[in-house]
Amino acid sequence: HAKAQGRNTCRFFMPSLQVDVEARLNLETDLHRALEQQQFHLTYQPQFNLQTGSVIGLEALLRWRHPTRGLVPPDEFIPLAEDTGLIVPIGEWVLREACRQMVAWHRGGFPRLRMAVNISARQFRQSGFIDMVFRLLRHYGLEPGLLELEITERVVIQSAEHARNMLTILRQAGICLAVDDFGLGYSSLSYLRTFPFSKLKMDQAFSRNLADDACDRAIAEAIVSMGRTLGMEVVAEGIENALQLDTLRSLGCPSGQGFHLAQPMTAAETAAFLRGHPQGEFCPEELL
Ligand code: C2E
Ligand code: MG
Ligand code: MG
Ligand code: MG
Repeated sequence: HAKAQGRNTCRFFMPSLQVDVEARLNLETDLHRALEQQQFHLTYQPQFNLQTGSVIGLEALLRWRHPTRGLVPPDEFIPLAEDTGLIVPIGEWVLREACRQMVAWHRGGFPRLRMAVNISARQFRQSGFIDMVFRLLRHYGLEPGLLELEITERVVIQSAEHARNMLTILRQAGICLAVDDFGLGYSSLSYLRTFPFSKLKMDQAFSRNLADDACDRAIAEAIVSMGRTLGMEVVAEGIENALQLDTLRSLGCPSGQGFHLAQPMTAAETAAFLRGHPQGEFCPEELL
């Protein structure tokens, strides 16, 4: 955008950078207080079996309601939380809240849906991470198979051996492991296969470009068929319209997630959604 405005925009670069640094520092100060002031909540986005239309699970997505700025998107504060180390207590809160909510829904008679939680690199590397996960599952009396951890490729590439050991322990305990944002680069499926992942989440970029980019369609098709061959579940992320949904279904993609199927919702909205669409009976119109 600076390019579009020509060379002269260079002189605005330093001042605006300063504003960015200031804004970041302010946000960081506020982030320190966010946990104790209970400014976080989780939203839940359903994942669907694209063949039957039934809900197969939920992904917990963190929201920060800032007292003056309103909702701050995770893409703005998660990197900050990573840099400062605040991701460790925040990430623990997310896991605890997701577990607590699952148990509350089970007690309320809702189906035992699997809950996916995003785990960032620093959180995953933190010593004691595995113990914390096991402790929470025990505390809430949850079957490990109801929890899924979403991890990006980056995390396993950085310290492969350590990551492999940790993932193996988690997987052997029955916890599900998903590769988030898969297909963006870094690693081949044949390499990732050496880690005990059970699921690939195909990055939204593929859904977005399905209709008009033959290359992305071919990659999506390849990911779906390799997933099938390797016995890994494939979930398409970011399905925003009926055309993308149709295309993914015709490629044989088993499951998906996206605004077209359901938005991330508050706990109350999610409960209402699940009540209105009992497990196995729900079929979005396009899936019929
Ligand atoms: P992600 O894990 O890949 O999550 C998917 C993101 O795509 C979410 O954004 C979701 O709201 C959005 N999304 C869902 N359907 C659609 C769609 O049809 N179109 C488009 N354009 N977007 C869609 P969100 O909630 O803003 O989260 C962004 C990222 O922040 C997440 O990407 C994840 O990497 C991170 N994040 C969110 N919650 C947590 C958390 O509790 N812990 C950690 N460590 N990271 C989190
Ligand atoms: Mg995710
Ligand atoms: Mg993703
Ligand atoms: Mg992402």
